[in-house]
Amino acid sequence: MLKVVKFGGSSLADAAQFKKVADIIAAEPERRYVVPSAPGKRSKTDTKVTDMLYTCYEMAAKGENISEYFSEIEARYNGIIEGLGMDYSLNNEFEMIRNAFIHKAGRDYAASRGEYLNGKILARYLGFDFIDAAEVIFFNDNGQFDSERTNQVLSAELKKHEYAVIPGFYGSMPNDTIKTFSRGGSDITGSIVARAAECDLYENWTDVDGFLMADPRIIDNPRPIAEITYRELRELSYMGAGVLHEDAIFPVRFAGIPINIRNTNNPAAHGTLIVASSDKYDTGNVITGVAGKKGFSVLSVEKDMMNNEVGFGRRLLEVLENNNICFEHLPSGIDNMSVIINTHDLEGHRDQIVNGICRQVNPETIDIEDGLALIAVVGRAMVKAKGTAARVFKAISGAGINIRMIDQGSSEISIIVGVEENDFEEAMKAIYQEFVY
Ligand code: ASP
Repeated sequence: MLKVVKFGGSSLADAAQFKKVADIIAAEPERRYVVPSAPGKRSKTDTKVTDMLYTCYEMAAKGENISEYFSEIEARYNGIIEGLGMDYSLNNEFEMIRNAFIHKAGRDYAASRGEYLNGKILARYLGFDFIDAAEVIFFNDNGQFDSERTNQVLSAELKKHEYAVIPGFYGSMPNDTIKTFSRGGSDITGSIVARAAECDLYENWTDVDGFLMADPRIIDNPRPIAEITYRELRELSYMGAGVLHEDAIFPVRFAGIPINIRNTNNPAAHGTLIVASSDKYDTGNVITGVAGKKGFSVLSVEKDMMNNEVGFGRRLLEVLENNNICFEHLPSGIDNMSVIINTHDLEGHRDQIVNGICRQVNPETIDIEDGLALIAVVGRAMVKAKGTAARVFKAISGAGINIRMIDQGSSEISIIVGVEENDFEEAMKAIYQEFVY
């Protein structure tokens, strides 16, 4: 049994959190490869070290004096070292990094030092080897993650170390400069290490008891999800459910490695297990989770006999493509077609799109309406359960809410409904109520 464990920023925010992490790792010798984030917030009003590094680098880039601000960053790490009672100093590293800032070593380099320094302390504290992510995680010339080269080099390197810490969030470009993943990207590193190590389980330790069935900002005390498939998770996280970086799913999914979301502050909880497939589910619930997002627009086009017109859809979508816009959903009727688009993407393109579609397909009417929210009701059990869609619609109409759009993919693991943004929260509550209480 081999486990790769990733700890998020709140799990490594200070010495007390480091101790919890060390206890978790010591509890199971199979937790052999550890991927840390940079120190996160110690309280609601605190600042993440990554954000401090971005700010500090901006100051340096503008030619401002960074001494004072940089020492605040040093103090975060020194606080951890002292709190752990370690005989260890990062002063040489601080000196090098401060100089690199002044010589404008790059924004990504700056941000990556958060994980790098935390990894150094953690490796030392645990007595594990330190593997610099810059030597084992690679991006190509276009800045895209180079999965094959990484997997080759990283798996060979891991074989040389029984126990190691590999800092999250960054890797290197072919010209040896540092590049980071997008924010929250240590999850991705963890997943990449899990694949390269061919481990049995990727544990992602954070500060919640796992994935919740719904957003706790909308639903009071939503239930945690014990087990979820990659595909369900993808549907929920696409719709805005947080906890895990979306791109973190791909490397482990590719290798068929399950992910276990765990809580550093409550290690007794089993968390959420993310698996390739599962027929285990709570038959009482049918749904695995519900998630949603505001900020969509509906582009509706109507034309008599549209259904007979070969190439209608292609010509319409080509107009979007020419404006570099992707669509989210495409519900269509006999003589009408709607395209759901992220409102943000439309900005600056509305006139071109309307004119382009008029030219290309000559519709009777064309209209763009903003203010749509989408809700995804997701559950692998839906395939077998009859009447799920009816229950979703009944719940929403029971709350006096009008459904603007319905889309059920042929996969039958999700039903997507569109409602007015103003009705979003109430619709989410109604659906949760219908299925979970
Ligand atoms: N430290 C980085 C961030 O704040 C990456 C991570 O924590 O996953 O985005």
